[in-house]
This record gives sequence, structure tokens and C-alpha cells, in this order.
Amino acid sequence: MGGKTGSRDEVIIVGGGIVGCSIAWHLSCRGRKSRILERQEPGGLATHAAAGILGPMNETDRPGPFLELMRRSLSLYPDFVARLEEETGLSPDFAQSGILAVAPRPGDRAALRARFDWQSALDPSLVFCDASEARILEPALTGSLDSAIYYPDEGHVFAPRLIKALLGSLARRRIPLEQGVTVTRIVPSGHGTLLVHDREGGCREAEKVVLAAGALLSDIEIPGTRIPVSPVSGQILAVRSPGSFYRRVVFYPPHGYFVPKLDGTVVIGATEESIGTRSRVTPAGLLEFLSPLSSLAPELLDLPLHHVWSGLRPKSPDALPVLGPHPECPELLVAGGHYRNGILLAPVTGEIMADWIEGGTPAHSLPFLPDRFLKAGKE
Ligand SMILES: Cc1cc2nc3c(=O)[nH]c(=O)nc-3n(C[C@H](O)[C@H](O)[C@H](O)COP(=O)(O)OP(=O)(O)OC[C@H]3O[C@@H](n4cnc5c(N)ncnc54)[C@H](O)[C@@H]3O)c2cc1C
Repeated sequence: MGGKTGSRDEVIIVGGGIVGCSIAWHLSCRGRKSRILERQEPGGLATHAAAGILGPMNETDRPGPFLELMRRSLSLYPDFVARLEEETGLSPDFAQSGILAVAPRPGDRAALRARFDWQSALDPSLVFCDASEARILEPALTGSLDSAIYYPDEGHVFAPRLIKALLGSLARRRIPLEQGVTVTRIVPSGHGTLLVHDREGGCREAEKVVLAAGALLSDIEIPGTRIPVSPVSGQILAVRSPGSFYRRVVFYPPHGYFVPKLDGTVVIGATEESIGTRSRVTPAGLLEFLSPLSSLAPELLDLPLHHVWSGLRPKSPDALPVLGPHPECPELLVAGGHYRNGILLAPVTGEIMADWIEGGTPAHSLPFLPDRFLKAGKE
């Protein structure tokens, strides 16, 4: 078995998905070095599968710290992508094109209106639209439609291009990313640092370690209690649209969405299945989100199929992110459980974790500390 490598890192980040890369980037912007350890392709579990929607208001049914966290991250996006683009010349196809949440039938209107009432109190720019106003905003909505909420400040990004730009920037900043390293165990060294063991027999030493291993985070053995994160599979597809005819992200009931991308594809998704670490695409899964389109936006079903795929979202027991130091081992930090919103939450997660690593206590991360599960587990 291979032994310790000899060198000691300030920070080791386990997992090179959007979350791990964003943390490394934010640390680098503050002049701090880190090393990313990645078992396979960076972002191969979830980041590459994501639809890239940046839509806080459709991701919760109440105001509170989670909505505020998502809104803060959305507000960081324009500067985040502009800096990445400037540094690398790579565009993540960020578009603040607006999002529509639609009520296809009159019976769906009351629930949508109730949502609009509490949300517009937080953000007066929201608009409650009738069917004809919504069709002007999104011409794909040619089928049955009652009303919609329009969120003008929300939008989308192309997640695979975003992580490509992040990786490009990290390479330019000389932040090492080691691929083919599967971390298995993290143990205290006995003199204030942590030892990071991997399946390949290697062992590295770091002052601080951040767990950003997405849906496989719970597989890693750590001091004290493991963080409970489990995979939720999502099936999704893309069709090719002629030109850039479609414009806005649309959320439709019960759980569907479509996202017109800047490259002329329209991404349509997605299922949610708790089937372990299996990732698969099935006709039944695709039907789940395609069937409602036959009455709402039937033309989308006639477009040529471009690609189908699936990925694994990392979900915590309360479906909220897990951000901050492990209570039983403060040198070990957790950045996981981003579930449906890891792309949206990437900038704020990078900011929060960099604050923790620099010795701060970022107030907006306090509702998401890991100890909420570890305390509950002890009762
Ligand atoms: C179908 C689908 C649609 C989605 N749509 C959206 C969306 O529209 N908007 C949005 O914001 N989010 C969306 N998401 C969610 C988003 O993709 C995730 O929340 C986000 O990618 C999580 O990022 P991550 O870096 O934590 O995980 P990942 O991208 O999974 O990265 C984790 C990395 O850790 C590595 N790793 C794991 N274990 C180890 C180990 N032991 N040692 C070393 N490396 C390890 C993995 O190989 C991987 O590269 C979607 C997800 C899916 C599946």
C-alpha cells in the first residue's frame, strides 16, 4: 500500500463537481490554495446532468433562509460568470431570460395565485399573467393555458460549460485537480491536521478538508457520524429547436420543466427516483414529464430528439443543503446535499465555505449546519 505523499496542503477538497470547483475558485480569489481530489470525471455524477435552471422561487413553497440563500446565489451569478468568461474566454451561456410557472387549467389558478401573493411581497417585479400575456413571453405555450407567474430576473446557465470554464480558470490559477483518486477515509493525524486516505493506497495531509462529493458523500468514512446524503436519480432529455424560437424556462405541473438553451436545444425534464446509485433512462420515466406537454406545448414533442441522459442529485434528509464544519471535527467541512439546486447554489456555497475556512461564521449558512442531522441521530 502506498503511504503518505509527504507534502501538506492547506485545504483538500474531495469532489470536483460544481460545488468543489466553486469552493476552490472562491478560495483562490482570496489568495488561498487548495487541492481537489476527484475519483473520475469532474462533475460526472450530477453537474453534467443538470438542466441549469437558476430559479429560486419555484424551488420552495415558503419564504425563509433557503429561499434567501438561493436568491443571494442568483444575485452573485452575473459577476461569477463574467469573471470566469473574462479569465478563460469560455462562455457558460448564462441567460437571465426569465422563468414562467404556468397553471394549464382554471382549476390550477388558485394555487398559483396564492404563490404569487406571498412571492410578490418579496419581489415586486413578479407579474401575474393571463394566457395571452404568457404566450407572448413564451411562444411554445400554444396549448391549453389559464395563467402564469413571470419571474423576470431568473434564468439558466449551461452547466457543462460552466464547469468547463471553472476548470479552465482553476488550471490557469494553478489549483491542482487530481483525477483517479477515490477518497475512502479521513482521520485526524493527531497533531491538528487531517489524513485523507484513498482507494488507490495514497494518503495526503491537510489542515482542512472539505467534503464536496455529491451523491456519494456518505460513502466516505469520517471521524464521528457520517453525513446522511443519498442519491436521487433524474432522467432528462434535449430536443433540437429550429433557431432560437423558444425563449423562457417554463415550469409546468406536476413536476415538469423545459429550458430553451442558447445553443438551440430545449432541455426537458426531469424525473426523481430513489433507486440507489443506478443511473438509467426508461420510456416510463421520460413519459412522466413529456405527457403533460401534449396539451400544453405540443410542438415541442415534434422536435428531433437530440440526447437523453440521467444523473444523481445529492439529497439530505430534509432536502436542504449541508454547509459548514463537522461538529465533532471542525477541521472537516461539509458542502453537500445541494439536491435540485447545486448549479444555482454554486456561487454562494463557494463564498460560504471560503468564509468558514478563513475562520469566519457566515450568518446565512447557520440554518444549514451539518449538526442538525448529527444531533437528531444521537437522540
Ligand atoms: C437531471 C438533473 C437536473 C438538474 N437540474 C438542475 C437545475 O436545473 N438547476 C440546479 O441548480 N441544479 C440542478 N440539478 C442539481 C445539480 O446538478 C446538483 O445539485 C449539483 O450538480 C451538485 O453538485 P456537486 O458538486 O455537489 O455534485 P457532483 O456534480 O455530483 O460532483 C461530485 C463529485 O465528487 C466526486 N466524488 C464522489 N465521491 C468521491 C470520492 N470518494 N473521492 C473523490 N471524488 C469523489 C464525483 O465523481 C463528482 O465529480 C440537477 C440534477 C439532475 C440530476
